[in-house]
Amino acid sequence: MTSHRIAVVGAGITGASAALRLVTASADRVDDVVLFERADHVGGRIDGTPFAGVESIDAGADAFLARVPDAVELAQEVGLGDDLVHPEKVGAAVWYDGFHDIPDGLVLGVPGNPLALARSGLLSWRGKARAAIEPVLPRTTTEPDNIGRYVRARFGNEVHERLVDALVGSIYATDTDRFSLAEIPQLAALTDERSLLLAARRVARRNAGTASAGAAPIFAAPRGGMNRLVTATVDAFVGAGGHLRLGADVEVLPAGTRWEVGGELFDAVVCALPADRLTGPAGASVPDLQDRADVVMVTLLVDDAEFPDRLLGRSGYLVPKPVQRDVTAVSFGSQKWAHWTPPGGGQILRVSIGRDGAPVLHLDDEEIMTRVLDDLRRQIGVSITPVEHRVSRWPGAFAQYRPHHRRRVEQMRDRLPAGLFVAGSSYDGIGIPACVRSGRAFADRAATFGADLPS
Ligand SMILES: Cc1cc2nc3c(=O)[nH]c(=O)nc-3n(C[C@H](O)[C@H](O)[C@H](O)COP(=O)(O)OP(=O)(O)OC[C@H]3O[C@@H](n4cnc5c(N)ncnc54)[C@H](O)[C@@H]3O)c2cc1C
Repeated sequence: MTSHRIAVVGAGITGASAALRLVTASADRVDDVVLFERADHVGGRIDGTPFAGVESIDAGADAFLARVPDAVELAQEVGLGDDLVHPEKVGAAVWYDGFHDIPDGLVLGVPGNPLALARSGLLSWRGKARAAIEPVLPRTTTEPDNIGRYVRARFGNEVHERLVDALVGSIYATDTDRFSLAEIPQLAALTDERSLLLAARRVARRNAGTASAGAAPIFAAPRGGMNRLVTATVDAFVGAGGHLRLGADVEVLPAGTRWEVGGELFDAVVCALPADRLTGPAGASVPDLQDRADVVMVTLLVDDAEFPDRLLGRSGYLVPKPVQRDVTAVSFGSQKWAHWTPPGGGQILRVSIGRDGAPVLHLDDEEIMTRVLDDLRRQIGVSITPVEHRVSRWPGAFAQYRPHHRRRVEQMRDRLPAGLFVAGSSYDGIGIPACVRSGRAFADRAATFGADLPS
């Protein structure tokens, strides 16, 4: 009798979630699961190392959205439920030739509180006047599936460039004039109504209501770093009988009706890799899904004396493109996370550079530090001499979902040969909960496919 064997390639959060699913929920349909990872550790784009005397400071993702269930559920499943912590309730700012508090009532940058927008110094009076007419404009088509086109048509350029693009662009290192509207569900949901402002106002009020009623926080992370989520998931997978092969940079090759991965035969394969890492038959199916943006994350330990008092109690700031040089966003980590307090004092800052249209990987560490410290001097007004620093390079950090991304993903999946599945951040959502959901969903498909084969 042939056993039903499934390979999962890539031990980032997507592959780890897929692998665990296969040996738990699908255990009755699958005999053997092997997880291949080319690095000598698991985690992929989730990583952290000791910094400033703190056990682990994230070099990539530092939290996940807790309002969608998938990542929270996974954390609970692998025993981290009681270790989840939440950011402090501190507000962020936008730097636009000076610091401006993010106005109340925004939904991913879309204004839902006209009064707060009118009071903000972030927009010119012209920008505010243009935004004010949004509720009376006729409906705007979403067909071009382009965030920039839609938001500019509704509110004008200033709201788009200084708020929506600043927020969404910094989360996905993207240029929202080239990014799919449908792939940001929180934004896309607002377009069901004719007026974006009225829709945002309703959502903002609902969010404010649930927040004051003590609802669950928006973001969460395991104390001790995001990489604990991936390691705990892989540990649970191995504990349930799965096999992990580290240092295995594998190709997926057709072998009759089966697949060969790392010299072993499998009935089905879940490729949990970025699209630009796929080779063989899977790689041939995804040529138009490979756009990615590179990012460098610089972590700094800054002496308390150099950190201005006026910035205490803020989580950080965003820099809109019209005034961007290199830095796109700064997170005041020690203000945002209680457990990021260095034992020897000081503040931990994380500074992002690089995005779609602004390459950074050609810069060496010295040039990166010079540019970061120059920008910080211009924005914060202080010449910082970091006590400690760390430069983390993320080639292909963020998939860039171009307009009509979903259509291309569906077409690509239709072209995939039987038994081959792709999952993860290149296709089904960039945030960690979306990766967990994608990994689990395609693990289920692979299990069903494997079980349907004749034994
Ligand atoms: C700087 C940064 C900050 C971020 N911040 C957040 C955040 O705060 N919140 C959030 O929700 N998301 C955030 N993200 C996004 C999120 O971290 C990623 O989308 C997610 O981790 C991607 O997971 P994945 O498993 O799909 O891919 P990856 O993490 O890229 O995993 C793919 C794995 O496949 C392996 N691999 C590649 N080729 C092969 C091969 N041939 N054989 C075997 N193995 C191979 C790789 O080594 C890697 O381990 C951030 C991302 C970055 C880069």
